[in-house]
Amino acid sequence: MNKLKIYGLIFCGLCLQPNVAVGWGFKAHKQLNYAAVFTLPPELFKFYKPHLNYITEKAVNADKRRYAFADEACRHFLDTDHYEKKAPIDTIPYSWNNAVLKYSEDTLLAYGIVTWHLQRIQLQLTKAMVEKNLYLILKLSADLGHYAADLHVPLHSTENYNGQLTAQEGIHSLWESRLYELYESDYDFFTGRASYLPSVSETIWERFTQSFAALDSVLYFEKIATQKFPNKYIIQSKGRSNVKGYNEKFCAYYHTLLNGMVERRARASVNLIGSLWYTAWVDAGQPNLSDLKEEPIQKEEADENWIQSLFLKSKILGRKEE
Ligand SMILES: [Zn+2]
Repeated sequence: MNKLKIYGLIFCGLCLQPNVAVGWGFKAHKQLNYAAVFTLPPELFKFYKPHLNYITEKAVNADKRRYAFADEACRHFLDTDHYEKKAPIDTIPYSWNNAVLKYSEDTLLAYGIVTWHLQRIQLQLTKAMVEKNLYLILKLSADLGHYAADLHVPLHSTENYNGQLTAQEGIHSLWESRLYELYESDYDFFTGRASYLPSVSETIWERFTQSFAALDSVLYFEKIATQKFPNKYIIQSKGRSNVKGYNEKFCAYYHTLLNGMVERRARASVNLIGSLWYTAWVDAGQPNLSDLKEEPIQKEEADENWIQSLFLKSKILGRKEE
């Protein structure tokens, strides 16, 4: 099935639910993982380069899993304002164990765990590099890129994730997909070299705090843009379906008000993704990965095929936020 048909099927499901929130779109996630490979220093770039297609295409696997597993959804966000009203984030424990002690695991799972889950994947990637397990290195690298990108999205830090509490329904996909797809060709994805992160945990929370701090502007400027363009919605044709979207004048005005925010968050994502991969490799003892052979694991491949089939014909389980 070609990509156009796949997108057609997805939007077919969305067309009757115009307020469904869609995360960094598939296009963005793929481009961010792709660009991150080019931030790597030569010794690691030569490992990732032959797998560029895999790293790019599998950037969206984490979102596809949301159609198969109910516990996947909470890994993509953290409703910070359930715990704190304003940045900086200074009362939520950085460590998972301390957070569980303070809030209980059930509460954390209910309101999202992206910051902690990203740290967990980072450790798993480091272990996979120590063990030189090619399949896991690639799978976890692609997933790590996905969650690191989601970390940079302001609307992934709030219970008001789709503007549903402030009469701004649809803002999630507006910020993450519509604006990105309209203007990404003007974005500069050359972010400089990936760097070693002495404290992965601190960096992750720092980036997420920036997302939470930007939330006010994301919501406020949408209100301003709506005052100027009250007829902001249009019906867009997607594949064989019609979906509710935003007109270009409204988008252009909102994008201008945001003053480069979407591009800045995309660029920060790219650099963090590369830096996390690089840090995992350094922490693993800088193993020589160039001699690893492709050994497809049949069970994993069967699982992936099953998830793909659910993705094509099912509904998202849990919150409709990617
Ligand atoms: Zn996601």
